[in-house]
Amino acid sequence: MTQIISHTLPEIRRAGGAGHRDDALAPAGHFINGSFIPGSGGSIDVVNPATGETITAVAAGTAEDVNNAVAAARAAQPAWGAMTPRERSEILHLIADRLAANSGDLMRLESLNTGKPPAVAEDDVSSAIDTFRFMAGACRTMTSLAAGDYAAGHTSVILREPLGVVGVITPWNYPLLMAAWKLAPILAAGNTVVLKPSEQTPLTTLKLAELIADIVPAGVVNIVTGYGDPVGSRLSAHPDVALVALTGSVGSGSAVAAAAAPSRKRVHLELGGKAPVLVFADADLTEVARGIRTAGFWNSGQECGAACRILVHESVADALTKELVREVGTLVVGEPGAGADVEIGPMVSEAHFERVKGFLERAADEGLHAAVGGRPLPGPGYFIAPTVLTNAREGSEATRNEIFGPVVTVETFATDEEAVRRANETEYGLAASVWTSDAKRSTAIPRNLDFGTVWVNSHLVLANEVPWGGFKGSGYGRDLSLYALDDFSRTKHVMTNHGA
Ligand code: NAD
Repeated sequence: MTQIISHTLPEIRRAGGAGHRDDALAPAGHFINGSFIPGSGGSIDVVNPATGETITAVAAGTAEDVNNAVAAARAAQPAWGAMTPRERSEILHLIADRLAANSGDLMRLESLNTGKPPAVAEDDVSSAIDTFRFMAGACRTMTSLAAGDYAAGHTSVILREPLGVVGVITPWNYPLLMAAWKLAPILAAGNTVVLKPSEQTPLTTLKLAELIADIVPAGVVNIVTGYGDPVGSRLSAHPDVALVALTGSVGSGSAVAAAAAPSRKRVHLELGGKAPVLVFADADLTEVARGIRTAGFWNSGQECGAACRILVHESVADALTKELVREVGTLVVGEPGAGADVEIGPMVSEAHFERVKGFLERAADEGLHAAVGGRPLPGPGYFIAPTVLTNAREGSEATRNEIFGPVVTVETFATDEEAVRRANETEYGLAASVWTSDAKRSTAIPRNLDFGTVWVNSHLVLANEVPWGGFKGSGYGRDLSLYALDDFSRTKHVMTNHGA
């Protein structure tokens, strides 16, 4: 590959004080048994990553707070689980209506707390609403195998039941959306919930609790804010929690599974990703570059399915890199309040900014070239320039580990077999994409890729009707679709002897 380099770094567009309103903040405290109550521990500052300023503080939950929330969820479960699907469905529709009526507040709060560009916050809120609507409908369609006589003189009926109390632990990159992805199917299936949002981004989850407090019976949804340890670890270990569901990093997934093991509860893990983007010589390179501009940089690259690891056929690598550099160079960087056209916000925290910066420094030491970007941008706030790293060799750190920032790498391959082998040589198995105009390749290559979602000539397009989840280090269990309802419920076989 020849070196293609653009030295221009983007300016950060500033909001000039706009976007700092916090009048929509939910009341302080944990949300337990239908009301906000003070926690038994200290507090955690919540920071605006676009400016580094503190927005507010939330309760640092304790094991005792978790115990109280689980007790409330346990007491509420029998009545909630006994409702008909139609009754629960109507409540889920009311939740969706309430979110829709308050979508402006939710978007603003989400952007304030995460630094998300407005278009991402808008998509998060509208997708969260659609998740509640989908699950409201889907839970009324659940069926099991037909009742029948499968052993002589015996009739079998298969019932689908709630699990009981489900513990949920969410990440900072899509706080409201991940809460919706879990809450909607878990509630639809008749379970009650204790949810811990990320300590860095709890504001929209608390707002959701405030908004639905008069819709959902007390104890059905409980929110305990705080750190992974002790809040997440107590939820994972609690003997009255039937399943713990985490969306987060691989390390947290292992910790949750280990803490859950002694109580033999079910575990549902949606973990990290490092999505390969396989570009064959017959692909439409302009479409590929446009696709990566969106799917590699959506949510500032803080996205588990991001199109971040480009594997391109060596014959078109230079042509694709040129197109990519031009596309990525047009991304608008700024604070969320600086305009509806802002596309890249800050990293979520100073610690994460330092982590991404470290990846860029080590990539430069390893001999990778920043064809565009490659550096942090001046503060305040935790901004990194949108970056394309080329000259990445097999095994380079930047191509193996989840950077989780606005950074994509470009590697080359020579044959289809090499493309598939290299794509699969990762601990992750969440998502991948294949770009080709060859019908045979578009059918054959996805079958050989070890990823829970494979797009063809597209990347990062999701829908509530289809499952989302990974293989290998990316975890197990499925979000969205009827498969999530399966995961958050259990089957019971009742067999009745009617023989003589
Ligand atoms: P994280 O693992 O640091 O934190 C996720 C949550 O786990 C937080 O609420 C945290 O407090 C909690 N936690 C941390 N340690 C814990 C422990 N020992 N026990 C219980 N809970 C614990 O992840 P993050 O940095 O918030 O989020 C980014 C990660 O999430 C990335 O790896 C990303 O790929 C992944 N992610 C995956 C998906 C998906 O659908 N697969 C979606 C979004 C994010």
